[in-house]
Amino acid sequence: MREKDCIFCKIIEGEIPSHTIYEDERFKVILDASPASKGHALILPKEHYADIYDIDEDTAACAMKLAKKLAAHMTEVLGCDGFNIVQNNHEIAGQTVFHFHMHLIPRYKEAKNADILQWSHETFSQEEMKAICESLKC
Ligand code: AMP
Ligand code: ZN
Repeated sequence: MREKDCIFCKIIEGEIPSHTIYEDERFKVILDASPASKGHALILPKEHYADIYDIDEDTAACAMKLAKKLAAHMTEVLGCDGFNIVQNNHEIAGQTVFHFHMHLIPRYKEAKNADILQWSHETFSQEEMKAICESLKC
């Protein structure tokens, strides 16, 4: 089901042009328009899901299977030295397009922006770590 005013739904329907590298009944994979590196691509489910909370388990699992295949294919073709798979949810986490997508980001030893995805670290006491761990057990 498409969402009105969703840019990725419009790309999926062909209303907005994209560089499509893969397509099947469930997914379209396009090059990111503002790439972090050469070959940066986005896996888009054809159904509209806002984020990881909204998407069903089966589609999420299939998206990860596709990421696995494309990581191997893109690494072979591009000759990259590593690979990030990134998936942002909600504005605070960097999501800017609210149609679920997975970033496939090839990494190169010689790239100028080697700081993609670096973050500073927080420190928690052992007590805090225990409490966090207890609260998250499932
Ligand atoms: P996120 O910040 O995780 O929501 O990622 C959204 C991504 O979509 C960004 O990396 C944008 O560069 C990319 N993007 C936005 N509009 C387009 C478009 N029309 N074609 C391709 N990529 C796009
Ligand atoms: Zn959409």
